[in-house]
Amino acid sequence: MLTISGKTRYCGVIGDPIEHTASPAMHNAVFKKLGLDYVYLPFRVKREELGKAIEGMRALNIRGLNVTIPHKVAVIPFLDELDGLARKIGAVNTIVNDDGVLTGYNTDATGFRQALLERGIEPMGKKVVILGAGGASRAISFILAEQGANLTILNRTPDKARQCASMFSQREVRALELNRENLVEVLEKADILINATSVGMTPNIDETPVPFNLLKPDLTVFDIVYNPIKTRLLREAEQAGAKTITGLDMLLWQGALAFEKWTGVKAPIEVMRAEVIKGLTRS
Ligand code: NAP
Repeated sequence: MLTISGKTRYCGVIGDPIEHTASPAMHNAVFKKLGLDYVYLPFRVKREELGKAIEGMRALNIRGLNVTIPHKVAVIPFLDELDGLARKIGAVNTIVNDDGVLTGYNTDATGFRQALLERGIEPMGKKVVILGAGGASRAISFILAEQGANLTILNRTPDKARQCASMFSQREVRALELNRENLVEVLEKADILINATSVGMTPNIDETPVPFNLLKPDLTVFDIVYNPIKTRLLREAEQAGAKTITGLDMLLWQGALAFEKWTGVKAPIEVMRAEVIKGLTRS
């Protein structure tokens, strides 16, 4: 049991829906293990209540919030400051409250970069295929382009892939419709495949965005879906002999980087990893 006192500091996550979140289990377990007087709560915030929720954060002196679907872009006008990366991406997933000054960050992007680094993967010059053009894809595309990867974005709605690609005025990013013909063409030469769509996520765990016969041993497959931890895409990529990275790694690192911003304490990565696995296998 957490002990709450008048000195306890509050963090949390806002989104709608919020029932599926793995973040409270991860953060609360780590606060407890490190003896930090913090607590982390999930808040279901409807679209039309977002402004009031952020004013509430200020009024109640909540130290930090994570922001998830559907608020990552809409929250920006309610903040006082934006970190440079969050500004360029146009989305925020972490807010820090310093005595009433609210600053927005994007630790989805930096967390994704850390997850690659941890596996010794260097994106510079690599041919990277990204499936999806939603909020997560924007953050990932941005960080990969910054690191010199050669990007192709495929999305079910091709206009959104083109919008995403248009963020990069200085470099050429291909934008295509997500269909079999285009997958065949781009995967033949790809080094890294990233699934940033929600295909394969619970409850649709039998779905995959890529047919098995297009997967190959010299590919690294990163599926950012984390529920289930091992998606059908990752299982089939393993069978094809490809290197795989789970969405849990990105979830872990985005959480660790937010934790460090709120507490000023270095995140205990292995403790967090064990807690997030425990939380996800329980759910
Ligand atoms: P989002 O903004 O709602 O974008 C969803 C994306 O999935 C869009 O590109 C959408 O295509 C595509 N999509 C949805 N259903 C599809 C289908 N049946 N066939 C093909 N494409 C489909 O969501 P998001 O925030 O980017 O999140 C995407 C996924 O990443 C979710 O599963 C989320 O849980 C996961 N995520 C993981 C982490 C992590 O830390 N591991 C962090 C953030 C997000 P259209 O544009 O055509 O609709």
